[in-house]
Amino acid sequence: MNGPEITLEVAPELRLFVPHDRRQGPTALTTDGASTLGHVIESLGVPLTEAGALLADGAPVARSHIPGPDEHIEVRAVDRPQEQLRDVLGRFTPSLAPWTRCTACNGTLAEADKDTVSDQLEHGTQQAYDVFAQCTGCARVYWRGAHHGHLETIVADAVREFGGTAA
Ligand SMILES: [Zn+2]
Repeated sequence: MNGPEITLEVAPELRLFVPHDRRQGPTALTTDGASTLGHVIESLGVPLTEAGALLADGAPVARSHIPGPDEHIEVRAVDRPQEQLRDVLGRFTPSLAPWTRCTACNGTLAEADKDTVSDQLEHGTQQAYDVFAQCTGCARVYWRGAHHGHLETIVADAVREFGGTAA
């Protein structure tokens, strides 16, 4: 790409999506001069569902905005992810059964003994986690990550409000 060079600043909440060298603050980015801002953001790895307000030189712009030379682009995070989740759940009222289905084959998960699954785990995983489940279909092993408690709280709240079957 050899189009205009812009400066891009991604909200701290979104920096896990972008390449490591763009996580510290504003960085220079050369665009192709034709792509929309939405496309530029996506191509960096930020899902558009996670991107909130977009600013060009401090002024709000749409995703269809085509960044021009020397523009300073800011990508904010969506304001309240939990509100967004509640909104989505309320609209589609999916059947909620968290942590009961295999994401690979949709098989049923069963609780697994740590000793039984330990040969399938990285050593660090084995050290850090205690609660495991294994797919009865394809034998894929699941474990509860460090952030699971927070996700579980969000899902549990949603289940309470919208119905469904809690794990
Ligand atoms: Zn499976």
